[in-house]
Amino acid sequence: MTDFSFSLLTGDTGPLAKGARPDSLRVPLEGHRPVLAEGDQVLAGTLLAKARDDRGDMHAPLAGIIREVSRFAMLIEVMEERRVDPQTAPMEGGDILRRWLRSMGIDVRPLRRAPVLIVNAVPPEPGISIHDPLLRDYRKTVELGLETARRVVEYARLYLMAARGNRANAFADCTVVHVPPVYPNGLPPLVAKAVTGREHLPGQHPENAAILSVSDLYFIGRVMETGRPLTQTVMTIAGQNHLVHVGTPVDFLVAEARGTVEDGDHVILGGLMRGIPALNTDQGVAKDTTGLHILRKSAAFVPVDAPCLGCGECERRCPARIMPGMISRCSEFKQFARAELFHIHSCMECGICGYWCKAKRPLLQYIRLAKYELALLRSAITPAERPPLDPTKEALRENSDA
Ligand code: SF4
Ligand code: SF4
Repeated sequence: MTDFSFSLLTGDTGPLAKGARPDSLRVPLEGHRPVLAEGDQVLAGTLLAKARDDRGDMHAPLAGIIREVSRFAMLIEVMEERRVDPQTAPMEGGDILRRWLRSMGIDVRPLRRAPVLIVNAVPPEPGISIHDPLLRDYRKTVELGLETARRVVEYARLYLMAARGNRANAFADCTVVHVPPVYPNGLPPLVAKAVTGREHLPGQHPENAAILSVSDLYFIGRVMETGRPLTQTVMTIAGQNHLVHVGTPVDFLVAEARGTVEDGDHVILGGLMRGIPALNTDQGVAKDTTGLHILRKSAAFVPVDAPCLGCGECERRCPARIMPGMISRCSEFKQFARAELFHIHSCMECGICGYWCKAKRPLLQYIRLAKYELALLRSAITPAERPPLDPTKEALRENSDA
C-alpha cells in the first residue's frame, strides 16, 4: 500500500472469508501464563494459558501437539480436527457471566457496569473494514453479543457510533451518532468524547460509559452461540475481511492473499498508523490483530534519530493536544518520569505526530518506549514509593539535574 489516506470510508466490502487451516500455529502469549508444556496434545479449544489480567484466557485454535513454548509464543503443530465439548453459559449476569466470558477467551476489560454503552462501528484505522461484514452478515451473532453485554454492563442508554457515509444499521432502542469519516475518530477516547462530551485518559475507562466495538460484540456472540472459546480474530487483508485462527503465521496469510514479502519490506500487523511491524514472517497473529499490510521497501517511511527541529508541526496535529516533540525528547534521553509532566498518558497512540514530523523522528515509538519504561518503573517499586501521577516541579528539577 503506497497511497495513504486518512479516510475511514469503507465502501462496499465483500463477505467475510474463512481463513484456511495452517500446518502450524504460533500462539502469542503476551500477558498470559502457560499451563501446558512441550509435547502436550491439545484439542481445538483446550486451555493453553491463563490471562494475567482481564484480557481473557488463551485456548488452542486447532488440535495438535505443542512443539515449543517460549516466553512469547507457543508453537503448535496442527493435526487432526478435534474440538473440546461445548460449555453452557451461566444463567446469571453480572460478575459471574463476566468471569465465564473471561475464561472463554473474551477480553472483558471494557465489560463493566455503566449507565451508557457505546457500540463503536467506526473503523479503527484507514484500510481496516472489519466491522462492515459483521454488522451486515452476522447481525444475529452481533445482537446476541449485545444482549450478553447488556447482562454485564446493565446500561440504561445505548449508542451506536458510526462514521458518516458508512453503512451501520441501528440496534433496537439505540441512538446513532455519526462522526466525520476521518482518522482518528474511531479511537475509543474520541468516541467516548463524542457521546459523553467528556475526556478520559487512553487505557482507562470513561467515567460513565462502556465502549465495545462491533467485533467485540461479534466475539462475545460467537462464544455464546457455540459454547466454545474464542480462538479467532477478524482481519482486513488486501481489502478483504477474513476470519483467521489466532497464531496463524504471517507468511501463511501473505501466501493465502497471493502476496510476497521481499527483503526490506515491512509487514505491519494492524493498521498503518498504529500497527506493529512483525518481527519475522513466522510470527502468529494475536486476538486483537485487525489487519495485515505489506509496506514495500521503496514506500516505507524510514524514521531517523534526527534532532527535533522544534517546528511544532506535531503539536498542531495532535488530537490529544499534548507536545509529542517534547515527550520524544524525554524518551530519547531516558528522562521517562519527566515525560509525565508533558502528559504522556493522554497520548492515544494514534501515530499522527510521527506521520507529520518534519524531521522524520520515530515519535510514536519513543512514546511507546517511555510508557513501557514507566510501567516497568511502577511495577518494580512498592506502592509507598510510587511517584504521583502528576509529578511536582521538584521531580522536574531532579530529572533536569540528572
Ligand atoms: S500519537 Fe502523537 S499525535 Fe497521537 S495522541 Fe499521541 S502524541 Fe498525540
Ligand atoms: S514535528 Fe518533529 S521536528 Fe517538529 S517539533 Fe515535532 S518532533 Fe520536532
